[in-house]
Amino acid sequence: MAANKDNMQLNRRDFLKLSATGLGLSLVGFDPLLGTFQAAFAEGAPQPDQWFMSICPYCGTGCGVNVGVAGGKVVAVKGMPDHPINKGELCILGKNLVGILDTSDRLLFPQKKDGDQFKQINWEEATDTVASKLKETIEKNGADSFAMYISASEYIEEYYVYNKFVKGCLGTNNLESSARLCWASGVVGLVKAFGADSPPCCFDDIDLADLFFVAGYNPSSSKPIFFKRLMKAKKVNKTKMIVIDPRKTDTAKKADIHLQIKPGTDVILFNAITRELINKGLIDETKAKNITQDFEKLKEHVQSFTPQFAEEKTGISEQQLAEVVELIGQSKGALFMWGQGLNQSRIGTRKVTSLLNIPFITGNIGKAGAGPLAVTGQSTAMSLREAGALPNLLPGFRKVDDPQARQDIADIWGVDPQKMSPKAGRTIVDILNGIDAGEIKALWIIHSNPAATFPDTTWVRSVLNKLDFLIVQDCYHPTETSQFAHILLPAAQWSEKEGTMTNSERGLNLIEQAVQPPGEAKTDIEIVMNVARKMGFEKQFSFKKTEDIFEEFKRCTTHRPNDINGLSYARMRKEKGLQWPIPTAEHSGTKRRFIDQKFPGNDGKLNLAINQHDDPLEIPDKEFPLWLLTGLVNEQFHSRTRTSKIPALNRAVSEPFVEIHPDNANILKIKEGDLLKVTSRRGQLTARAVITDNILKDVVFIPYHFSFLAGEDKSVNNLTIRSFDESAKQPEYKAAAVNIEKV
Ligand code: SF4
Repeated sequence: MAANKDNMQLNRRDFLKLSATGLGLSLVGFDPLLGTFQAAFAEGAPQPDQWFMSICPYCGTGCGVNVGVAGGKVVAVKGMPDHPINKGELCILGKNLVGILDTSDRLLFPQKKDGDQFKQINWEEATDTVASKLKETIEKNGADSFAMYISASEYIEEYYVYNKFVKGCLGTNNLESSARLCWASGVVGLVKAFGADSPPCCFDDIDLADLFFVAGYNPSSSKPIFFKRLMKAKKVNKTKMIVIDPRKTDTAKKADIHLQIKPGTDVILFNAITRELINKGLIDETKAKNITQDFEKLKEHVQSFTPQFAEEKTGISEQQLAEVVELIGQSKGALFMWGQGLNQSRIGTRKVTSLLNIPFITGNIGKAGAGPLAVTGQSTAMSLREAGALPNLLPGFRKVDDPQARQDIADIWGVDPQKMSPKAGRTIVDILNGIDAGEIKALWIIHSNPAATFPDTTWVRSVLNKLDFLIVQDCYHPTETSQFAHILLPAAQWSEKEGTMTNSERGLNLIEQAVQPPGEAKTDIEIVMNVARKMGFEKQFSFKKTEDIFEEFKRCTTHRPNDINGLSYARMRKEKGLQWPIPTAEHSGTKRRFIDQKFPGNDGKLNLAINQHDDPLEIPDKEFPLWLLTGLVNEQFHSRTRTSKIPALNRAVSEPFVEIHPDNANILKIKEGDLLKVTSRRGQLTARAVITDNILKDVVFIPYHFSFLAGEDKSVNNLTIRSFDESAKQPEYKAAAVNIEKV
């Protein structure tokens, strides 16, 4: 049973302290406050005789990891002591990486669906089947009847190969990724505000800022090593922290000011802060006008967002608002951070651009210790974007609808530019709708689990069943998604393949292959290139080694924002985390961008956003009177395909739970640990009650990690709604109406 959150923290620390007594791991350098470690060794395993350099594959912090191997097996992981990001430390997820490799559910050989069963086939048959099915589908229904859906935890070289195959060879831009579910609104917000995808800051800015403004983001749970650095700066430099979150998260508990905002009302709050900063004369208007577009328009627009109006709508008192405005106004350098709490909304992009108005008008941009600093939930969401593995992009942040961009990339790829589509491909929302409408016939899913992670699970499962041909390429089976496959392709995973990852501060690192993939599993690159060659694209995929792919990708970055012509595998072995652009071998990387106050948008200026608030698609009513918020816990990652294999993590949190406010619990006569049935208009979930005033009245929180492999009624996405950001198509996981009753 899930304990309440405070007990859960205690339990977690207690069992971690057990180290050598039953977890199967010996832990070295344990930090009891944050649960971070320096090394973990598999108990009873031989001492490593070889070490390989790597990066933790979970979050966008990008912690350096040394991987210890003995007898062809990974037996230890150590935080890389000389890595600039984590300086030897790892969080609970990173230190448990040994356990994700040799699991009993590794997919070891290709399999084909035969009736209700999967039957083993050889690679030749698997490759032939995939190649001929894709050819047949495209010949009969056109290239746009096929789509590929990948994860945001893969390597640059993999993204590059998928992109070349799908967009250059097959002629469709239907290449989409799971980053849509975490960060699409954040990225579209950055593009709208800056005029280009443009993370400007670096983690070193944490030590130089005097204020952290943290909205809809809980790095204590989602990025513990990054959070530890925030806490160190807070202690050493007395940096202030404002946190905006409807929950009293572990991050909010460390804040100087926690604004416990009503769900979904962020645009109103940000507009009110902007109004007060302007009206109280706390900004330099001349400077703001020099670097932004539409300052006067914004000034006029925010006048109706009075403190009284903001209090009524957001629940944040005039007094608290005044304190926050004062802190921002006094700050010499503020970092603005946000996460899924803003992104996962019907108006997620509006929330992000309204937030960005604040650093832009206060001059917190283009200088050390100031600006937006966003760390993604998946490890290589940045690599994905720079490699152009999204439906509207080509490598080097080029757009598919730009004829010159298509020509440039076609020249490098050795394909006919006329065969490349000028039309943006489908997002995952449109792919699933397309399957439902009979327009998408074949789907290739790589290391992703949409049957568990997309909202309204019942609908998603019915849609996946309609496909003529579903290829699932993964390292595990079963997953919630693999069960719907017509063919299963066994893939290598972290430590079993090499490649390059870019973290959220634009830092690139090499991941070495430490061991061979198990059984007949192959690297993702090999699998996709073999199919491509079988379809006649031998010339485009004549790479002999992964490094050749990296070298070809580098050519796509010449004179682009992410120019990495100065980087090589050899240089990455010596220098860790160099940040793009790195145009020459002599260049030492770029910590901060836009220091010259010239921005990529119109006239070199920043775009201010004139945004109104809109309610979520579904709001609580008599029948479904509570808000549902979904989110994560420290000890699990996404849909648990990896973390469910780790006893230590499952001991901490092994099933979903429902956080409910004591007042609601009293009204409903619910006691701690009672089994609850939670229903929405889409479905139901059964889970235990955790009574806590960490959450607002009339709001419930349920973690999103569990799906129907944990039990038909354990998926929070049985409850969530198919509502999407108007610009970025990111699902709204933070606002659905639910009812609760005791079972
Ligand atoms: S903070 Fe992120 S990258 Fe670092 S060890 Fe933890 S999960 Fe891995």
